[in-house]
Amino acid sequence: MNVRIRQSVRELKPYTPGEQTRDPSLLKLNTNENPYPPSPGVQGLLSTLAVEDLSRYPDPLSTELRGFLSELHACKPENVIVGNGSDELLLLCLRAFVERRGTINYFDPSYSLYAVLAAIEDVAAIPVPLGEDFQWVVPPLTNTSLFFLTNPNSPTSILYPSDEIVRFCGSFNGVVVIDEAYVEFADTHCMHLAKGLPNVIVTRTLSKAYSLAGIRLGYAVGPADLISALYKIKDSYNVSRLTQEVGLAALRDQEYLHKITHAICSTRERIADELVTRGYTVFPSQTNFLWIQSPRLPAGDLYRYLREQKILVRHFPGKRTGDYVRVSIGNDAEMDRFLAYAP
Ligand code: PMP
Repeated sequence: MNVRIRQSVRELKPYTPGEQTRDPSLLKLNTNENPYPPSPGVQGLLSTLAVEDLSRYPDPLSTELRGFLSELHACKPENVIVGNGSDELLLLCLRAFVERRGTINYFDPSYSLYAVLAAIEDVAAIPVPLGEDFQWVVPPLTNTSLFFLTNPNSPTSILYPSDEIVRFCGSFNGVVVIDEAYVEFADTHCMHLAKGLPNVIVTRTLSKAYSLAGIRLGYAVGPADLISALYKIKDSYNVSRLTQEVGLAALRDQEYLHKITHAICSTRERIADELVTRGYTVFPSQTNFLWIQSPRLPAGDLYRYLREQKILVRHFPGKRTGDYVRVSIGNDAEMDRFLAYAP
């Protein structure tokens, strides 16, 4: 036994990210990245960047970025924190709001990172099974400190009813973190809850709709007392100078954001309709991916067959998820290639 490594880490089954490949012949529809480039403002910024500034540490509070986000969401800077991807903010929430040996809840299936974060921190993870066809169920009220609510959900692509979420947040004793990683592709969002309820935090990311997975930037909005707790425990310089500048340039270009999210949503609807015509089960997506089942091939076989055709999608083996695959929405040409092979 290796006594130098904490028991929870020794026993940990780490999070498995989707396959990242540099092989340009592979069509990557497996990690919900954006097929379009980031805002042209980002390219402009990078070509004028003052390299000598890189010898200095970044602003620990990301003041400019935070200020811009507070304007964007009509709140105060004290209500906003930025992080090294929204993953960092999810971990900070768990550390700040859950006692050691406490418990967290989240729906099953949803983002598989939550259980891993809990295991690292010695916190019990109690999943709440979703209803039939992955629909919303009212979670039982327990003494849990934190509920991670992925909305729209991944990998199922479904958006939950807003009125159910409001009711749940109002009756839940702990903190509800609404993980809105995909919300820019959805018809509604819950940002007003983060500004109106004392126990709700909303997390967002620039990895998906803003096409910036490579810079690692996420943010959270919530009540000032909860957000200041996150500031107390974050790394001093959690967001790099480059990331702060690039992120700001992208956030300033809301017009471009709307243009590419609109393009992705149109492609999504076109592909969903075509798959339905071919007899696939396709869940109503409010994200930049589809959660589908082939009428002809079991999901594992479909995943392997597409891989042989150099198309990467995601299969999550397991009781609730194993019968489906998740397909990220690429551009129209990429999705036509997907359709050409989808059996
Ligand atoms: N939440 C969900 C539901 C996700 O799917 C992802 C991406 N894997 C994240 C959060 C993390 O995003 P980020 O790149 O900002 O860390």
